[in-house]
Parts: sequence; C-alpha cells; structure tokens
Amino acid sequence: MRIFEEMESEVRGYVRSFPTIFDKARGSEMFDEQGDRYIDFFAGAGTLNYGHNNPLLTDAVIEYLQEGGIVHGLDKATVAKRAFLTKLRDTILAPRNLQYKVQFTGPTGTNAVETALKLARMVKKRSNIIAFTNGYHGLTLGALAVTGNYDYKDETYGSRSNTAFMPYDGFLGKDVDSIDYMRRFLEDGSSGVDLPAAVILETVQGEGGINVASVEWLQKLEALCREFDILLIVDDIQVGNGRTGGFFSFERAGIYPDMVTLSKSIGGGMPMALLLMRPDLDQWQPGEHTGTFRGNNLAFVAATQALGYWDNEDLAHAVRRNGELMQSELQKIADKYPQLEPDLRGVGMVWGLELPQPGVAGEAAREAFERGLLIETAGDRDQVLKFLPSLLIEEELLREGFDIVDQALGALLE
Ligand code: PMP
Repeated sequence: MRIFEEMESEVRGYVRSFPTIFDKARGSEMFDEQGDRYIDFFAGAGTLNYGHNNPLLTDAVIEYLQEGGIVHGLDKATVAKRAFLTKLRDTILAPRNLQYKVQFTGPTGTNAVETALKLARMVKKRSNIIAFTNGYHGLTLGALAVTGNYDYKDETYGSRSNTAFMPYDGFLGKDVDSIDYMRRFLEDGSSGVDLPAAVILETVQGEGGINVASVEWLQKLEALCREFDILLIVDDIQVGNGRTGGFFSFERAGIYPDMVTLSKSIGGGMPMALLLMRPDLDQWQPGEHTGTFRGNNLAFVAATQALGYWDNEDLAHAVRRNGELMQSELQKIADKYPQLEPDLRGVGMVWGLELPQPGVAGEAAREAFERGLLIETAGDRDQVLKFLPSLLIEEELLREGFDIVDQALGALLE
C-alpha cells in the first residue's frame, strides 16, 4: 500500500489502490515493472474503450508528430481539428440526425460539465439545476454541486447551493415513479424548488454504482423537461462512446438532449472533452468561456482514428456480443454465491455486481488484483464491483477475467 501512497500523486487523491507500479499496456492487458500481467476490466473508467495503445490510434499520432504536426494551437483552426470535426459530423452526428454544435472545453470531463451548467444558466437566466441521487459529474465546484454524493462535499465549498436533487430511476423502489414525484415538486410552490435552468443526468450512473435508468423513465424525463422549458443535459462522459451499444448512451431511449458532455474515450485515451449543444444555445459572447488547453491536436488525431470504428456496424455488434457474454458470466457468478446477496445490473458493456455486505466488494477487488485482474468498485458505499472492459476486448480475456472474479469471491468465503 505504501507504494501507492507515495507514487500515485503527491497528494492523496484517489482512495482505491493497486499496490504495484505499472509500466506497459496493450489492448486489455497491463504489465507492471516486474513484468506481471493484469487483465484490465476497468479501462480507465471508460477512457480506454478502444484499448490501451491501440496501434491504429498510436500510429496516427506518431506519424502526425513525425511530420511536424501542430501539438498546441490554442484556439487556432488546425487541419487536425477540422479533420476531427468533419469525422464527428459525418460519422456520428449526421447519420443520427443530430444537429449539435461542438464546443471544446478544458481537457477533462469536469470541464465539459462546468461549461454545460454555465451555458444553461446563461441561456435560461435561471440559476437552479436539478440533478439526481447518486449522480457523478466531477469534483470541481460547479460539477461537485450536481454530484449526488455528500461524501465528496463540504458546505464550506459553497457547492450545495442552486441545486435540487431528485430521486433517480429506482431510487425510491421499483413501484415509485420518480418523474411524477419530480413533477409535483416543480408544480407545487411549497416544495421550495425553483424552476431549474437544466436537468443533468447520466443515463447509466457509473460512479454511483451502475444504476440503469429505464427507457420509459428517460422518455418521461425528456417530456417533462419540454413541458417546463428545462434544458436536458446528458452527461455521457463515462457511458457514451459506445459503452451501451450505440455511440451515445441516450440512443437506447430515443431521446434528444439539448446538451451532451463527452470526454474519456472521445480522445481515444488522450485528454479531451467537449460539449455538444443544440445550435440555438450557442449564445456565448466572444471570449466568454475560453481556456488554454481546449482542443489538443494530438487528441484530435487519435480521436479521428477512433471514430473510424463507427464507419460500420462492427463495433456495435461487438458490444452486443461481449455484453451478452458479460451478463451471462456474471449471472452465473451471482447464482453461485447467493450468500453474498448479489444484485447484477447493466446494459451493453457496463455491468455492476452489487455485494451489499460492508467491505465485501473492496475485498473481492483486492483478491482479483492478486490473481491478475483489475476491477474497481463504485456506489455510495463502494459496494458495487464495476465491469467496464475495453469494447475491443478478446472473448478469451473476458472469460479469463470472469474466472478470476469467480475465484476471488470463492476465496472470500473460504
Ligand atoms: N461525469 C461523469 C459521468 C464521470 O464518470 C466523470 C469521471 N468519472 C466525470 C464527469 C468527470 O470527468 P473527469 O474526471 O475527466 O473530470
């Protein structure tokens, strides 16, 4: 453990640990400096959907650098930027009939969230935002305010204001329709909920424990937003980029958000974040929302290659095939260990196995690490084992990884 505390960063930022020093990676495997190999079932929390060191992406970046391509251009137009925007439009937006404008934000997901919240408030001239229980949108002050886990918050940050939390789908149990509940809050002046500028949500909550909103719930939420003139922001930072089957996670519900935040895998492993907005929302004054590292040309090069995976249906088919395998392997594991009271949830290639007894999921992740598998935990009590392998993972590695999960849970019960 000491290795981690000394090396991960110079302040203690992350709470989870893999006590070794990683050195190399390829596809869905990572190697530490001793040469020990680990299967990666986490993929940077959805950042490495195309795998580690994908040669298609890295070769393009190496070639770009060797040919003297521009690395940093601030907000100048560059050939790499144009190529990315053209590819995004032609391959992703146009075939889905989505009319979004693209704004590059600072390089990390939180920057895209901050941009969305600021723009929503500016356009609607209202300061309140509605967010959901167990949602995660980042830990800078604006994003933190809409993150639904008070463990991260402290009232001195001033980040509890201008946000109302509503119950996510299923939070109040299967029989309560939380959209009807929300409607009551919006209609009834005694609720103390100001009409919000926007609603922000993940269609599948990642850090919150793999909570999957139903198609009906998402459609009702969209209708409610339209009725009350509230902007709908989908945060697709973790479960976009193909994780749930389509490129965007909201495709499964056929909804059309006003804004979408993207980061993690959009840069193919390079830092990049962006906001998609309905064209009429582009009301910024020049210079009103800028920053230095918005649009990194190396990320544009990798991202343009990555979007090539969407030129045909192969990747969507792979997600379906791998997703079915993940579900069936995890169901077998859940059935084998009823004493752990497992609850399996997921869609596409994002699955969570809740092990509600205190500390069990963390112990299972530790046992898995010792056997050569990297899994993280999620949920408000870190009670959920989270499975987000690369979308391109080989079937053999998936099976090998789930064998390790099985052995890890078995070891806990010995
Ligand atoms: N939104 C969601 C849904 C996320 O999962 C994350 C990161 N886990 C963020 C926002 C914040 O992104 P970043 O850590 O890149 O700032």
